[in-house]
Amino acid sequence: MSQIVMPVLFVGHGSPMNAVEDNGYSQTWESLGKNLPRPKAILCISAHWETAGTQITAMDRPRTIHDFGGFPHTLFEKEYPTAGDPSLAIDICSTVKTVTIRPDLNRGLDHGAWSVLCRMYPQADIPVLQLSLDLTRDGNYHYNLGRELRFLRTKDVLILGSGNVVHNLRMISWGAYPFDWAEEFDRLVRQKILDGDHQALIRYADLGKNAALSINSAEHYLPLLYILGAMQQGESVSFFNESIMAGSISMRGVVIGA
Ligand code: ZN
Repeated sequence: MSQIVMPVLFVGHGSPMNAVEDNGYSQTWESLGKNLPRPKAILCISAHWETAGTQITAMDRPRTIHDFGGFPHTLFEKEYPTAGDPSLAIDICSTVKTVTIRPDLNRGLDHGAWSVLCRMYPQADIPVLQLSLDLTRDGNYHYNLGRELRFLRTKDVLILGSGNVVHNLRMISWGAYPFDWAEEFDRLVRQKILDGDHQALIRYADLGKNAALSINSAEHYLPLLYILGAMQQGESVSFFNESIMAGSISMRGVVIGA
């Protein structure tokens, strides 16, 4: 590669409590924030903004959305008062040709974005945008949109996918050992990424019973496809937080191009 580009990142975000707890996951996110090249802005594709049609936050000051229940007050009081970047949002809307992306002025940052970013960049001094997940679309749509967003990497924008490779809340079991199907699917995804077999990951529904259990609703998996779409051929891949929590949530993270 002749051009130096910003790495791309997928983070398994897991529990919102990782925003306020000092644990192995949040410590790794902190060290990523310190060691990755400092971005000019961040575009986050989070599992927690599900729409029909693709939207992008385009306000000056996105609010912190506390989109969860049953957690301590400290988490509801947590704010991530970072700026947006309306001109970058408009640039993305006009540069992406195959998809109509609608600017949004009402949303804010959900916990898929801020619970990770408040550990990576605690000063909240890098503008953040969120791109929604159009859940009416298939894997190809998300992967190809990730490909179209690749240009951002040359503009020092960090593309951050936030979800979980394995995410099955119906099977969650606190304190349990990882389920075999969860470990096997998590390992399969790792291997497919290393093999560059993106087609298999795009057509995840064809990957059998373990995939069906691991992706029982697709919103936590799909952000990974944006990251793979934004990858260039031959780039380095590394993994972090390679563990399964509560039996059925993979915390696996992926760094591409660093
Ligand atoms: Zn989540």
